[in-house]
Amino acid sequence: MQGYLIAGLPIIKQGDDIASLVKSLFNFQDGDVLCLASTIVAKSEGRFRELEDYHPSSRAAAIARNTGKDPRFVQAVLDESADILLDRPFMLVQTRFGHVGVNAGIDQSNVGADRILLLPEDPAGSAERLRARLGKDCAVIITDTCGRPFRSGVAGVAIGWAGIAPLRDWRGVRDLHGKALEITLEAVVDEIAAMANMLMGEAGDGTPAVVFRGLQYPRSGESSVFMPEERDVIRPRLKR
Ligand code: GDP
Ligand code: MN
Ligand code: MN
Repeated sequence: MQGYLIAGLPIIKQGDDIASLVKSLFNFQDGDVLCLASTIVAKSEGRFRELEDYHPSSRAAAIARNTGKDPRFVQAVLDESADILLDRPFMLVQTRFGHVGVNAGIDQSNVGADRILLLPEDPAGSAERLRARLGKDCAVIITDTCGRPFRSGVAGVAIGWAGIAPLRDWRGVRDLHGKALEITLEAVVDEIAAMANMLMGEAGDGTPAVVFRGLQYPRSGESSVFMPEERDVIRPRLKR
């Protein structure tokens, strides 16, 4: 397996054609997995907002008092949320497309002063559109750096993907001693996203695109890594 960091991308602006840009810098082959930081996908899709455009509700003002955040930023998070899991000491919410993250994944770094950057509205759709334009049979994973419950430190996760099944199903496969595995679903898109995120860096590296070649990845099976609410045992306890 090889991993390639795509260097040389510009600062992405609304309307920039990311598929063309990465194709001009990298020769894709069938089976490659292209990982893109959600940041550049969001920028190309014009997901910038100005804080001054948000008018905080009384709810946003109350949450702002508990979190120490700008009430306009809190309002932006509320606008992007389908469900609020925690509203103190920070906001942990579910986005409309199903991902659970702090502040709905809204970024203030690598963006510019007083601006915020929302996550792509539909990262799976973005991944599918990008994949269709690569000209090869590749997988696309859109990543974001996230904190994890129960663990210190951030890591990359997949928030949208195309051309790859997110979970590898090991159920029924025999272990070293011949015992069939019962419940193991492996979150391959998150594992790949974590490695890509590590290669991308978090600061001024300017490398938001990584390609893995020679990875064996599943193409069919379960369609999402987002835990369905009816099977989630943590969420109801957080919310009570
Ligand atoms: P996130 O993890 O998707 O929130 O993205 P980050 O803000 O952590 O950025 C990931 C990587 O992409 C870092 O190496 C940044 O320097 C780089 N990056 C962010 N925006 C741009 C951009 O517009 N152009 C380029 N070339 N790199 C960027
Ligand atoms: Mn981010
Ligand atoms: Mn990051």
